[in-house]
Amino acid sequence: MTLTYVLLGDPVEHSASPELYAAAFRLLGFDACYRTRRVSAAELGVEMRRLAAQGGGGNVTLPHKLPAALLLDERTESVSRTGACNCFWGTPHGSLAGDNTDVGGFLRAARRLTRRAGSRIEGAAVLVLGAGGAARAVLVGLAEGGAASVDILNRSPERALRMLEELQLGEGSPGARVLHGADEAAGRYDLVINATSLGLRAADRLPLDLSGLEARAALDCVYGPLGTRWTRHAAARGIPATDGLAMLVEQARLSVRNWLGIEPDVGPLQEAATAGLAGRQGGL
Ligand code: NAP
Repeated sequence: MTLTYVLLGDPVEHSASPELYAAAFRLLGFDACYRTRRVSAAELGVEMRRLAAQGGGGNVTLPHKLPAALLLDERTESVSRTGACNCFWGTPHGSLAGDNTDVGGFLRAARRLTRRAGSRIEGAAVLVLGAGGAARAVLVGLAEGGAASVDILNRSPERALRMLEELQLGEGSPGARVLHGADEAAGRYDLVINATSLGLRAADRLPLDLSGLEARAALDCVYGPLGTRWTRHAAARGIPATDGLAMLVEQARLSVRNWLGIEPDVGPLQEAATAGLAGRQGGL
């Protein structure tokens, strides 16, 4: 029987996930299909339970990641810590289970980038832009990875303060500080991360001008067919940079592991996601 996995969100049309997961299932020789479905908040729970009951599952994207976490019967540590769910499935005993693979996906992508830049997450000084769902996954990932310090810069500093309070990163977590403007940023960071949605639209301003500080690496959670304007801005300054495609691919591998117990290789998935994006319009 062909199992069905669905990306639930609103909007979902821009997503490169169908090509990505089709490639993953093909690589593993697994009989499954992957679709996208635009759902309202009211439809979310019904759809998640329906797919799980059929033995499949799916992913959840904006704006439903936080409500999805509240609907689960079983949740991983990443869901408990972030309060957000982006991957769900049905268990053999009929429960609705969920994970937040953005956490592990981010950490893997960030580790690869910092290695390329000659540094590492452990002990790193990091600047995070944003205080939404992606920033929460990034902060939990940085705590797991052993970053030494994290500065957070968000358009609304009060939202960043609330995020820190709610995350309760706990003992051994990086020292975190909310900045009230770019002028409060330290001179030097091992890694700067854009976890805002700036860059999704061609007309967006840059999330941060990197000329004013010394950054050893830049990771953009946003992705585009040719990277993003911000990753190109970084690269033009000699800063190793990666867009959110690497994170997307890694979170997809972790989703497939949750569903099938096995991870597809990274290379062919990266190619499938790149080809999927190239087929879409985009001026990032
Ligand atoms: P979200 O919860 O809606 O948060 C949006 C963030 O962007 C907030 O910090 C918001 O600031 C900020 N922002 C929005 N418009 C802004 C503007 N005009 N100027 C300055 N700041 C602005 O969204 P999210 O779930 O965190 O997602 C953020 C981005 O990460 C999205 O582009 C998403 O596609 C991407 N993402 C990628 C992956 C991946 O696998 N690559 C995974 C997850 C998310 P305020 O708090 O002040 O509103």
